[in-house]
Amino acid sequence: MAGEVLSKKQQDIAIISSYSASGDLIKLETALNKGLDDGLTVNEIKEVLIQMYAYCGFPRSLNAIATFMGVVNNRSGKNDKIGTEGKVLDLNVDKNAYGKEVQTKIVGSEVKGEIFKFAPAIDDYLKEHLFADIFARGVLTDQEREIATIGALNSMQGVEPQLAAHILCGKNTGLTQEQIDEILKLTGGIKNEAFATGEKNEAFAKYFIGQSYLNILTKDQVLVANVTFEPRCRNNWHIHNGGGQILLVTDGRGYYQEWGKPARELHRGDVVNIAPGVKHWHGAASDSWFSHIAIEVPSESGSTDWFEPVNDEDYNKLK
Ligand code: MN
Repeated sequence: MAGEVLSKKQQDIAIISSYSASGDLIKLETALNKGLDDGLTVNEIKEVLIQMYAYCGFPRSLNAIATFMGVVNNRSGKNDKIGTEGKVLDLNVDKNAYGKEVQTKIVGSEVKGEIFKFAPAIDDYLKEHLFADIFARGVLTDQEREIATIGALNSMQGVEPQLAAHILCGKNTGLTQEQIDEILKLTGGIKNEAFATGEKNEAFAKYFIGQSYLNILTKDQVLVANVTFEPRCRNNWHIHNGGGQILLVTDGRGYYQEWGKPARELHRGDVVNIAPGVKHWHGAASDSWFSHIAIEVPSESGSTDWFEPVNDEDYNKLK
């Protein structure tokens, strides 16, 4: 679409690789469906997930591919495009030379270092396998493969040097600083979270618009739960009687709004104190998943009164 910093396809590749790397298979499933809805071919997505094993290992890659297989099998009614298949390098190609050429082109200069003298096998594997076998498969452009790599590395802990290196590689494949910033923003909140997402929140579904997930962390002394909202999901206006509620934001971007007041935008690390008796709602932004830990402040008269949904007209005014 005109004016977009990244195309839908580029955004989808970044997000799919990011959830593959973080191992969040529930959110990955949503991202995979969106990718197919946006027109990515089945084989393009397969290539992203295959490439992932070079960056986050066979376990993450295999889990992502199994999730994608389930998605594809469930979409038999939709006309998803299969697309072209990845190619296998001809047996008589000198993979080391081929990979070195691709690596040098993408990195911008010949890659050298003490580490490769210390363990020469890893230098061979990088060239012959990653930059030859995998990159030669085609289907995705080198630029699309770098988008996938940046998305994945941005969702992993302790790989900052590699992320910085691949940001430069991304630029060598033609990505602008603005596009790189957008990839980092899209995937920045996606990390392997401390608390599991839990199950679909069926018990309270009638008080929510969109899909939420609930993981009760403890019921002893104080009720503490991890609540996750898909993009656009929010709870209805409600009041906590008795003790009120405290929210600790752990992931994504969302909102908290009290009746008659402007909405407050929320990010990872924000804390919201909700006094008893205050009518309010909380939920995700339209373009982001959102998670918070909800602490129900104990009280002898604790209860929740539920009211009307937050209507689309008001919600759509939020940025
Ligand atoms: Mn609340």
